[in-house]
Amino acid sequence: MTATAAKETRAFQTEVKQLLDLMIHSLYSNKEIFLRELISNASDAADKLRFEATKDDALNEGDSDLHVYIDVDKEARTITIRDNGIGMSRDEVVNNIGTIARSGTKEFFGQLTGDQEQDAHLIGQFGVGFYSSFLIADKVTLTTRRAGLTKEHGVHWESAGDGEYELDTVEKETRGTEIVLHLREEADEYLDDYRLKSIIHKYADHIPFPIRMMGTPLPAAEGEEEKAAEIETVNQASALWTRPKSELSDEDYNNFYKHIGHDFEDPMAHLHQKLEGKYEYSLLLYLPKRAPFDLWQAESKHGVKLYVRRVFIMEASEELLPRYLRFVRGVMDTNDLPLNVSREILQKSPAMDAMKKGATKRVLGLLEDLVKNSPVTDAEIDSDVVDAEIVGEEKEESSVDYADFWSQFGNCLKEGVIEDDANRDRIAKLLRFSTTTSDDQTVSLSEYVARMQEGQDTIYFITAESLAAAKHSPHLEVFRKKGIEVVLLHDRIDEWLTSHLTEFDDKKLQSIAKGELDLSSIGENAEEDKKEHEEKAKAAEPAVEKVKEALGDKVKDVRVTDRLTESPACLVSEQFDMSSNMERILKQAGQSVPDMKPILEINPDHELIQRLAKMRSQDKINDFSSILFDQAVLAEGALPEDPAGFVRKINALLKQ
Ligand code: ADP
Repeated sequence: MTATAAKETRAFQTEVKQLLDLMIHSLYSNKEIFLRELISNASDAADKLRFEATKDDALNEGDSDLHVYIDVDKEARTITIRDNGIGMSRDEVVNNIGTIARSGTKEFFGQLTGDQEQDAHLIGQFGVGFYSSFLIADKVTLTTRRAGLTKEHGVHWESAGDGEYELDTVEKETRGTEIVLHLREEADEYLDDYRLKSIIHKYADHIPFPIRMMGTPLPAAEGEEEKAAEIETVNQASALWTRPKSELSDEDYNNFYKHIGHDFEDPMAHLHQKLEGKYEYSLLLYLPKRAPFDLWQAESKHGVKLYVRRVFIMEASEELLPRYLRFVRGVMDTNDLPLNVSREILQKSPAMDAMKKGATKRVLGLLEDLVKNSPVTDAEIDSDVVDAEIVGEEKEESSVDYADFWSQFGNCLKEGVIEDDANRDRIAKLLRFSTTTSDDQTVSLSEYVARMQEGQDTIYFITAESLAAAKHSPHLEVFRKKGIEVVLLHDRIDEWLTSHLTEFDDKKLQSIAKGELDLSSIGENAEEDKKEHEEKAKAAEPAVEKVKEALGDKVKDVRVTDRLTESPACLVSEQFDMSSNMERILKQAGQSVPDMKPILEINPDHELIQRLAKMRSQDKINDFSSILFDQAVLAEGALPEDPAGFVRKINALLKQ
C-alpha cells in the first residue's frame, strides 16, 4: 500500500461532533484537563504494552523503559506528548479516535440541560478523553504505530476538530503514539514549562510511569561553558496504592481518583488498605460523588482495575466486586495471581474469589463508616472479616452524609440484597426508605424497628407506582388511625427486594396490601375493635353478597375490610400472590403474567356501602359495584380496564 493511496479524509461520527461542541462550550474554564486526559491515555497504553510484553517479549523492541515525554516548542507554538506504549493500528485509530462506541451515548446527550455548570459535570462523567485536545488546540496531529507491526505501518491522523479528519499511512521507527497540539491563540499559557509541570504534579504524580520533560538549563558559572539542559522526570512515578498512607494527602488520593475514575469531581470517599493473610493484596477503592450516566446500562465503562505485582492486567470490575457495587472505582493489586491470568482463569480462581469477598466486605465497611459518619476502629471493621488482616494503621476519615450516597447509589444496594445472600443482613442495614413518618428516604429498618408500637412484631410496607400513590393509598388508613408506621416503596426494584428480604432483625416484612390483616394485638382498644369489626362484618353480609354477585369472576372474593376508615373499598392480593404493582411492572415490560384476580375489601362504615346494602335494582347494584372496583384500581395508581365506561357510570351517578 503506498502512502498516497492510503490517504483519505473522513467525517467524525455525529456524536463526536456534538461532543466536541459541547465540550468546548462547557469546559472552557477547565482547559488544563487536556494534559491529564492525554497522559492518562499514554499511561494506559504503557500499561497495555507492559502486560502484552509479559507474554511476548518481542513487543518491547529492545526498549522497555516505558515513559511519557512532553516537549514544548514556543516558536512553533506546539506541545508534543509522546509515549512508547502499545500504539494503534490504522483500524484502531479509526475505531478509537473519531467514533464513540459506547452504549448510552444517545441517552447521555439527552440528559444535557444547556446549563453550563451542570453539563460540565455530565461531560466530565462521560469522559472527553482524547477530544479534550481541542480545548487548547485548533489543530491536532497524532502519529502512532502499534507494537509488533513493522515501521511502514505507522498511521498519521490530523484534524482541526471541525468535523473531519485526515488519515494517512506513514513510516514510524518507534512504537507508540505522538500527539502534537497546535495551540489556539488564547492558550499561550500552556507553552510555559512551569505551568505544564504544575499540571503534571496535580494530576499525574501517581501514575506509575515517569513523565519526562526538558529541564531548565542552569546558568553558566563564570569561566564555564553553559550546560545544556537535561531531561528530568517531573512526576513521582510510583503507583499511589503502594505508598504508605501516612505519606499521602487527600489531594493525592483525589487526583489519583480523577485519573483512574475519569471524573472531574473529587470522590465521595476512599478506602486504602493492604491486606495480608492467605492472600496478599492492596485495595485503593473510591466512591464517586455522582452516579455515572451509564450506571443503569448493561455495561458501564470504568470500574476497578486489576494489577498483578504493579502490572496492569485488565479492567475486571465484575471479577473484583459484585455487580451491585459497580459504582466503585479504583485499583486492586495482588501478588497471588500469575501475570498471564486470563478472564476465564480469573473467574474460576479461588484466590480471586477470596479477594472479591474481602473487597466486598471492605466496601460495605466503608459504607457503614459513612453511616456512622465518623472514623471507625480496626476492631469494628475486622470483626467479621476472616480472610485477611489489615496491615498498618487504619483510619478512614469521612465527612460525607450517607444520604448523599444513598440518593446516588441506593438502588444498587437493593440489588445487593437480592444477589448477595452472604451479606444480605449487612446490606439490609444500609438500606434507607421513605415511610409514613418521614418521606425523604432516610429511614433505616433498624430505626423503624426501634419505633414499632407496643405489640407490633411485623414491619409493614406498601409498594406502589410512585411515592404519591404509596402515600395516599387507602390501605394506609387503619395504620394512620392506629399510629403504625408503614414503609413506602415505589421503585421498580422494590418488588424484587421485598421478595428476597422477608425478615429483618427477626421481624417479618409484610405487605399491607396482601393477605388478611390482623392488627388486633396492636394498640389500646384492640379487643373492643376486634369485636366491633365482627359485628359490622355480620351486618354487612348482604352488601358483600350483592357486590360479589355483581362483579362475578372479576374478583377472587369480596369481604369486609379491616384496613379502611375513609375509603369505601380497596383491592388486596392473597398472601402469596403477585402484588398488583408487580403485575403492572411485568406487563409494562411486555412479560406475560398469569391472570391474578384481586380480592375486593369493602368498608361497612362507609355511606356508599350502606346505601348499596339497601339497593334493589340489579342494574344499579351492578354499576355501583363496578364503580367501587374501578375506584379501588385507580387508588392503586392503575387504570380501570374500561376507563371510558367508568367515566360514563360516574357521570350517570352524578346526574342523579
Ligand atoms: P478513553 O481513554 O476514555 O477510552 P479516549 O477518547 O481518550 O477515550 O481514547 C479512545 C481510545 O483511543 C482509548 O481507549 C485507546 O484505545 C485509544 N488511545 C488513545 N490514546 C492512546 C495512546 N496514547 N496510545 C494508544 N492508544 C490510545
